Amino acid sequence: MPEINVLVVEDEEAIREMLTMVLEQASFTVNSATDAQMAMHLLKENKTDLILLDWMLPGISGVEWARRLKKDESHAEIPIILLTARGEEEDKVKGLDVGADDYITKPFSPRELIARIRAVLRRTGKYGKGGKLELGGISLDIEQHRITVGETELSVSPTEFRLLEFFLSHPGRVYSRTQLLDQVWGRSTYIEERTVDVHIRRLRKILAEHQREDLIQTVRGFGYRFSEST
Ligand code: CA
Repeated sequence: MPEINVLVVEDEEAIREMLTMVLEQASFTVNSATDAQMAMHLLKENKTDLILLDWMLPGISGVEWARRLKKDESHAEIPIILLTARGEEEDKVKGLDVGADDYITKPFSPRELIARIRAVLRRTGKYGKGGKLELGGISLDIEQHRITVGETELSVSPTEFRLLEFFLSHPGRVYSRTQLLDQVWGRSTYIEERTVDVHIRRLRKILAEHQREDLIQTVRGFGYRFSEST
């Protein structure tokens, strides 16, 4: 399972703690800083896959720090999502202008945040080594959007692809239907929990053609787990 490290830079304690909690629940590893100086220190000490950066910080502003990082060869590749309290179009443009990969306007829901982070990680190829996830004989190539078992390519719907992608990057842990909805479907639409069962059933059927259906395990009274061991 690829460990994804997120650096949170936010001076407001309550928001910083909320972000940390939400990210950890989504299985990210979190480091947090209260300003750009502390963030720079953490960046040098730790592997960082994504920076969640507040626009309004004491000292160097978030947008200014983003500008500097994007010019700095050793850190330019790290995707940045700017958090902004402002809704003005001008600020959004400015944020993207300095090289931020996305921005999110406060207040936002945890689901929206996680969905944005995953989208940026996918776009920037930060998910897994070379954008590939492998487990139980199944190989998922994020960049090419292909799932293969041996030489055979599986034909799955976009939702089933995301579901399998989530399972492959979070093996061995049990997830409730609600958690799967949050993580895989995001907040865009209201979807009933049994939708999860429908997609799980389809995915199992596809995997069964390759004798891999046992990878998706039902945990009675709770949800589902993706695991090689039964
Ligand atoms: Ca702030």
